[in-house]
Amino acid sequence: MPITTTAAILRQRGAPFSLETVTLADPGPGQVLVKLAACGICFTDVGVQRYEQGTPLPHVLGHEGAGTVLSVGEGVTHVAAGDRVVLSYASCGHCGNCSHDHPQYCASFMALNYGGVLPDGAVPMHQGDTPIYGGFFGQSSFAGHALAYARNTVKLADDVPFALAAPFGCGLQTGAGTAYNTLDVQPGHGFAVLGAGSVGLAAMLAAVDRGCHTIIAVDRVAERLELARAMGATHSILSTGMAAADLALALRAIIATGVDRIVDTTGVSAVVRGGLEGLAQMGQMALLAVTAPGTEITINPNTLLGGRRLVGAVEGDADPQAFIPWLIDRHRAGRFNHAPMLQSYDFAAINEAVANMAAGRAVKPVLVME
Ligand SMILES: [Zn+2]
Ligand SMILES: [Zn+2]
Repeated sequence: MPITTTAAILRQRGAPFSLETVTLADPGPGQVLVKLAACGICFTDVGVQRYEQGTPLPHVLGHEGAGTVLSVGEGVTHVAAGDRVVLSYASCGHCGNCSHDHPQYCASFMALNYGGVLPDGAVPMHQGDTPIYGGFFGQSSFAGHALAYARNTVKLADDVPFALAAPFGCGLQTGAGTAYNTLDVQPGHGFAVLGAGSVGLAAMLAAVDRGCHTIIAVDRVAERLELARAMGATHSILSTGMAAADLALALRAIIATGVDRIVDTTGVSAVVRGGLEGLAQMGQMALLAVTAPGTEITINPNTLLGGRRLVGAVEGDADPQAFIPWLIDRHRAGRFNHAPMLQSYDFAAINEAVANMAAGRAVKPVLVME
């Protein structure tokens, strides 16, 4: 029996979300129906709300869902009705990169996560006869219920509240995974994060967990630097109006030989260039920001000659089925405390939560459905 649920629908680019009733299809083969309890808001949701990115409208966004499994389709064996779960990004499971344990670089990533339809072309939600696009990141969790897949449904331990667990599905996985997996931060490293939003802070928490000797937070908002210090940064740099050379000097004033590992979440040319010039020999810097079309970043190529590496990463180079339970265990062991960056909002206040995040008043809003 298809169920009805409340979903936050994006009807027009740039418009607020509108809470409406929709009908959700039954779980087909390989699918999982989840009653959502919480969903984090990520800048990817806001990006699709504001800018044309090939996602058809009307659409239900949301890709950090957590809740309880109501029913599963044929062939789903690792979760069952009643299980607590976190939802992550979708991947096909059979392309070259998926078969080599790199689902984050799935050949069908865009179609499966942004395409708006299920793999068989069906639309997951309806209002009467009108189709509502969904399946955003294999879930569309700005809703009371979501249709996910076995591959992006991750079982959750009983003792982690849903509102704390939801952001592991994307933002925490992205930031922390970049530090643990892509950059392999170590106690002997000096670490810096450029842009101390939720993804940057998650990367920083991984550096704290790994015991990096110096941890520098860089941001143009003083309150975020305060939060970063409370969460483990040893130094902070207020970068408002700083040119690239000034940022490099400020980093080298803290670590004269340069920083060993840097995560950039800004995608801003002067910041990236400054970070690269503040990087130690053989240092590595990862770029995570999705920049607006037309954005260009200028670097001095000679900086790369010191054995420095500039890399990009998606979803923390992580396979959610392995990485999310591992990271949640770090959290349960008290080694990854992301709670100070979260702010809870009732699901009905979704537009207020988005506005507060965009204005920098909320670092990581989490919508609570029940
Ligand atoms: Zn694939
Ligand atoms: Zn995200």
